[in-house]
Amino acid sequence: MKLKKLMMAALTLMCSAAVMAQQPIPTDPEVRIGKLDNGLTYYIRHNAWPEQRAEFYIAQRVGAIQENDDQRGLAHFLEHMCFNGTEHFKGNDIVKWCETIGVKFGRDLNAYTSIDRTVYNISNVPTTREGIIDSCLLILHDWADGLLLEPEEIQKERGVIHEEWRMRTSAQMRMLERDLPKLYPGSKYGHRMPIGLMEIIDNFKPQVLRDYYEKWYRPDNQAVIVVGDFDVDKVEQKIKELFSPIKMPENPAPVVAEAVPDNAEAIYVIDKDKEMPYSIVSLMMKSEPIPEEIKGDVQYLFVEFMKDAAMGMLNDRLGELTKKPDCPFLQGTASYGQYLFSKTKDAFDLSALPKEGQTEAALKALVVEGRRAAEFGFTATEYQRYKQTFLSELEKDYSNKDKRYNNEFCKTYTEHFLEKDPIPAIDMYYQIMKQVVPMIPLEGINAMMKELMPANDSNLVVLNLNQEKEGAVYPTEEGLKKAIAEGRALQIEAYVDNVKNEPLIAQKPKAGKIVKEVAGKKFDYKELTLSNGATVILKKTDLKKDEVKLASEGFGGSSIYGEQDFANIKMFDDVIEASGLGNFSHTELEKAMAGKIAEAKFVLGTDRANITGSSTPNDVETLLQLVYLYFTNINKDQESFDNTMKTTELMLKNKSLEPQAVFSDSVTVTLSAHDKRQAPLNKDDLKQVNYDRILQMAKEQTSNAAAFTFTIIGNFDEATIRPLIEQYLGALPSQKNIVKGKDVNKRFSGEVKNNFTRKMETPKAISVMVWTNEKMDYTLDNIVRADMMGQILTMLYTEKIREEASAAYSVMALANIDRDDYRTEGRIFVVCPMKPEKGDVATKIMLDEVNNMVKSVDQEKLGKVKEYMLKHIDDQAKTNDYWIRQIGHLRDYGVDTHTDYKKTVEAQTPETIAAFAKELLKSGNRAEIIMMPAE
Ligand SMILES: [Zn+2]
Repeated sequence: MKLKKLMMAALTLMCSAAVMAQQPIPTDPEVRIGKLDNGLTYYIRHNAWPEQRAEFYIAQRVGAIQENDDQRGLAHFLEHMCFNGTEHFKGNDIVKWCETIGVKFGRDLNAYTSIDRTVYNISNVPTTREGIIDSCLLILHDWADGLLLEPEEIQKERGVIHEEWRMRTSAQMRMLERDLPKLYPGSKYGHRMPIGLMEIIDNFKPQVLRDYYEKWYRPDNQAVIVVGDFDVDKVEQKIKELFSPIKMPENPAPVVAEAVPDNAEAIYVIDKDKEMPYSIVSLMMKSEPIPEEIKGDVQYLFVEFMKDAAMGMLNDRLGELTKKPDCPFLQGTASYGQYLFSKTKDAFDLSALPKEGQTEAALKALVVEGRRAAEFGFTATEYQRYKQTFLSELEKDYSNKDKRYNNEFCKTYTEHFLEKDPIPAIDMYYQIMKQVVPMIPLEGINAMMKELMPANDSNLVVLNLNQEKEGAVYPTEEGLKKAIAEGRALQIEAYVDNVKNEPLIAQKPKAGKIVKEVAGKKFDYKELTLSNGATVILKKTDLKKDEVKLASEGFGGSSIYGEQDFANIKMFDDVIEASGLGNFSHTELEKAMAGKIAEAKFVLGTDRANITGSSTPNDVETLLQLVYLYFTNINKDQESFDNTMKTTELMLKNKSLEPQAVFSDSVTVTLSAHDKRQAPLNKDDLKQVNYDRILQMAKEQTSNAAAFTFTIIGNFDEATIRPLIEQYLGALPSQKNIVKGKDVNKRFSGEVKNNFTRKMETPKAISVMVWTNEKMDYTLDNIVRADMMGQILTMLYTEKIREEASAAYSVMALANIDRDDYRTEGRIFVVCPMKPEKGDVATKIMLDEVNNMVKSVDQEKLGKVKEYMLKHIDDQAKTNDYWIRQIGHLRDYGVDTHTDYKKTVEAQTPETIAAFAKELLKSGNRAEIIMMPAE
């Protein structure tokens, strides 16, 4: 398909916009872009949200596709070597130095390698000292041109990457690896999975890696991107000084785009794997990507809008269709973008999760839906909804323009450098879209849709991945071909958009009153009591200009129900989510919400019922209406329920094929001492699920507003919200009697082991260890100490298990203090996917290091953890969720975990942490769950 032709066809339909379309998009004047003489590009921008923070990125225009055949996997290997010795940072010093400023490896200090790019970042850097900026730039410099690539460091990293490969290998990865040559005939894309070949990772000579580095990591392929709270002139000067001396190699090899040949005949790829839990089928229609030259013009913004509109409307249709009982698939999606992962070819992709044994029917249905959109177009009402939602989102983003985070800018500039994506100022983008979107005609989008869905086999690719099992019958190429032919031949009719044109709540309920108001003891909130007994906490913030958050909890929860309801409890959240509200079915409700940015959901906790939600300041009334409807009028939607049940059944039926899922269930069962109430849902449980009973339970949980506290935080207008609170929350039903939950959940105690083996396609081992103590105190000291203990353990494990023993790719420890109505529990949780041959070594280290903490704690590591926590708390305190939690702790348990936080962090010593560890381990509760591959 000729995309240029397509765009022109679409654009000529828009008279007034057509003039504008040819105009270039002006680049945001707030970003300083420059190019050094050696060819290196830089982007610098000042941004003061949050204050005293910055991000440092370096983007390399090269990745796995540049590898020679003997280098497969080395673009990614090189990425790892950036953290293992550079000119100015020997050994692990980059990681170690970053930790001293509270920047964590894996979290703030990270990188990724894909087919055609490698991008590194140092994030959430505190710019409190000038020296910190210098050092971060020096790290980028060393990545660009100062890697040591020492043979002994390379040797150590081979094992880590081998374990990364093991951890990431799943059924879908195995099949993709196998099938890529068929999906990309005649192209290098068929042989360049970034993880590479393990025989190369284990055996390559260091010079082969150095060759890749020297050939491709060079100034003309690199962009340095720095955004944050600093002086732009100074940073520019530093970049010039530091990066200008880097030399371009003589006769640099060109970065050539790897072509993806067209295919005249359809390509069919059918594969199967024993650990695949379900089947999927995709229909892909390849096309030329939008030429980079066009990306600088305003028309590109229109084309993007039109693409997104077409996909948005089509996805809504597919979602609606899955609710019909005769639909052959449980989920369906449409997308239009890169063909798999090649930027030189795009594809329009229709994919489905077929009902069991209905792969061919699902494929046929996808063809039919694609055709329905292509031949009849979308309707005016569908388009109206899409535009309303787009414009509401535009307003929302624009209103928050002063509170954008540094990483948003860095990511956009990375795309500008690598993909030539435009970077207009937000005011400019807002003005253009606000003016033009109402004028973009539906006919243009319908014309585009026609081009996207060709009626022949040219450039068609069908991918079908199946679950392999004994006696199964798999789709054949002939069968899939036939399904497509039938889909093409079928007589079809235009889509009919059924919309309910009525307000969410037809008649406003009888409003209540705010009968009492007191100021909160701390944190600047107000506590209102309504005439029905409900409590409302109000705290106004402008941390996000476009956000209002609502959290509510009421006494009750699943603990008041017995064994006959266990399955209903487990399906409760999903079933309520699938239901409608008021007079609207699930699908009708989604349509009725067009243009409104508000959402709410109902979650059943153990001893609380929770209804939570969020909206923009403009849509607060809608948010409160949704909450009101969850309390008073959940609409039974049988079709939507049936779809949810069938999807769940398919997922559960074959869950045991996935080793990871089996392990995760084993952890749950062991930690809950085989408690039926907490047991993972299984296929047989589904027979016990009863929709009417779930609706009745929902009614019971929401029968008494007096049992509820609603916390509303954000950028609302107080004068507006108070009458709305009286109108909707004040109108909720209430009664005298409050039913409280019970202490029902069982927990393991003492020493518990669950070690087992399992047959696997790729041998994997994984270990989880948990220590608990239910008799801890809920104090700020303990909360801080637990957090520190988990972080120090993670550092120790990373050093000893990953770096020294090469026994794992990642190990994570978390420790925390958790409080409910009945107890305060301290808990350490460690998870480690291991190399099977080194399982014993890894588990011994996991155990030993926890026990060692009772005796001594590393002062230096503690210092690093403190830096991180002191920085992190400032970032946290800039979110509304943080304040919901703080107010919750204060009101529920009388503990202020904010005011003295920093003081408490600073006061900790190796002795206080060791004493805490000793206290926690005193109970003797330890669980160990280990899965090893069977022979
Ligand atoms: Zn990696």
